[in-house]
Amino acid sequence: MDAESTIIGIDLGTTNSLVAVCDAAGPRIIASPAGERMLPSVVRYGDDGRVEAIGTQARQDAEKYPQHTLASIKRLMGRGAGDATDDLPLLGYRVVDGPNNTARVAIGEQLISPQEVSAAILRELKHWAEAAFGHTVRDAVITVPAYFDDAQRQATRDAARLAGLDARRIVNEPTAAALAYGIGIGSAGTPQTIAVYDLGGGTFDISILRLIPPDETNTDTAHFFQVLATAGDTHLGGDDIDTAIVRLLLDEMNIQPTPTGRQQLRNLAEHAKISLSDSPKTTIASEIEHESGRLSINRTLTRDEAEALAAPLITRSGECCTRALRDAKLTPAQIDRVVLVGGATRMPMVRQHVGEVFEMNPYTALDPDEVVALGASVQGTVLSGKSDALLLDVLPLSLGLETAGGAVAKLIIRNSTVPARATEMFSTSVDNQTAIKLNVLQGEREMAENCRSLGIFNLTGMPPMPAGIPQLEVEFLVDANGVLNVSAVERRSGAKATTQIVPNHGLTRDEVSRMEAEALTHARDDMTRHRVVDLIANSTLDVKWIEDRLAKLGDDVAPAYRAELEVLLTTLRGMVEAGERNWRSVDADVFYKAKETLDHASIRLHEQSIVRTLRKDD
Ligand code: ADP
Ligand code: MG
Repeated sequence: MDAESTIIGIDLGTTNSLVAVCDAAGPRIIASPAGERMLPSVVRYGDDGRVEAIGTQARQDAEKYPQHTLASIKRLMGRGAGDATDDLPLLGYRVVDGPNNTARVAIGEQLISPQEVSAAILRELKHWAEAAFGHTVRDAVITVPAYFDDAQRQATRDAARLAGLDARRIVNEPTAAALAYGIGIGSAGTPQTIAVYDLGGGTFDISILRLIPPDETNTDTAHFFQVLATAGDTHLGGDDIDTAIVRLLLDEMNIQPTPTGRQQLRNLAEHAKISLSDSPKTTIASEIEHESGRLSINRTLTRDEAEALAAPLITRSGECCTRALRDAKLTPAQIDRVVLVGGATRMPMVRQHVGEVFEMNPYTALDPDEVVALGASVQGTVLSGKSDALLLDVLPLSLGLETAGGAVAKLIIRNSTVPARATEMFSTSVDNQTAIKLNVLQGEREMAENCRSLGIFNLTGMPPMPAGIPQLEVEFLVDANGVLNVSAVERRSGAKATTQIVPNHGLTRDEVSRMEAEALTHARDDMTRHRVVDLIANSTLDVKWIEDRLAKLGDDVAPAYRAELEVLLTTLRGMVEAGERNWRSVDADVFYKAKETLDHASIRLHEQSIVRTLRKDD
């Protein structure tokens, strides 16, 4: 990649901003030199009008410098102080009217424009990208909410210019989110209607887009996204849930917190809310500064409690969705995909509610914080004419699951056209497993260690059962956009787990070629190893089953027959052990024979065992 043609993608958010780049391996977030993937959209200025701190540092010290810390500046972009009266109470700093009815922030004697503040954020992100690439960056695609008017879009362009960036295109955030999922690029071109549900820190937006594929006369690789409807609430977001939690805590503590105490409570509340997205309860323990001292708090907060606080807010967002559908004259059934955007959509309750409103599972494969920046970078690649390098329309490598012993069961084979679907049954190899780890793999090799792991997820909540008894049905579904939906159901207990992955992200054509070549080189070895590993897994179950029966049936088993089985068991156990030590040390054909011989010889034992069970039932 060279300085001339790299076009980065930037999500200039109200709460957080991110930068991404898309190359032959697909889109990816660029972290700061310190490893941060997200820049809090907060800038602190000194009285002299110079930037003192930016990002995490500025956010952390916000309470110490309330008048100098500028957060949520996006709310003022391209607007007059008069237009923003609704927002002013939310902003801790002084906003005044500047020239031509444009808002300015007053710090000491200085008047700072929102464009300058946004420019400081953009400049920081530009540095992150330059540090990562080792060369300068000039061009960017920057996203804005779909409802931004011309003045707001122009202000965003101006901010870019101040930061030394050429905003090659201003893209709607929901459009970027769709592009990140590969919707609207490549040639798979059926018309699609997409809803993008974006719940950020302080704002909620729902957008309904229609994707118009290019026709023969229009050879542009980028399809056109038409905005059918937008709705939302500029004062609804994850922060409101934090506020509700703070209120609950304050009611219980019955104190007047100092500004520092209030900030502590906000941080605790946000932290608790985030933990509750992954676990059913969390602990809030700290000391809070208040007017007449400090008071310690130590309390468990459950997900149920937090959900009760969040419910009215989430219901409100659902009402906006219904309104947007009505405006677009569409029913939920006419929506093809729902994309989730914004950190707050990690809350399970939000996912569930969106699922109910639109009557389908939303897209969650990409990190909701990152999806807009990723999509902006995809647009950058399209603009630079390099989107051909992206793997979009086929599944270049097989998709499968890791099985016992580290082998791979392939469910969907390479070069399958999408959409593609496959199911397969699995079981456990250890007694009383209550959870199964599912490792989703991509590649042509026979062993998991030689494939690319796309993600590991857990199926939990199974009742303990003997090995081999659980019936795990796994379904892989790759939809028309190339998104892999994996679902696993244990049929006896109904335990379920699902995950979503974009398999082609992070994969280049070169890597595909390399993996294909390696698969050819190792074909024979791989096959043998896979066979041995499967034989080990199956023989282990057989040996265990026969041992159990021999023990249970005791003297009912004729001594000669018992002796015959013992000999065969010893042989097979020996092969299992040898195979486990080194798969090359056993002959797969001999191993297979040994297993067959034992299986055959044990038929009588099976029968005896069934008769015994029937007798017991009498
Ligand atoms: P914006 O688009 O406004 O810049 P983001 O998309 O970054 O905002 O979302 C920020 C919000 O997401 C914050 O309120 C934050 O607390 C919330 N958030 C982040 N991670 C989680 C999580 N795991 N669970 C719940 N909320 C989260
Ligand atoms: Mg956002």
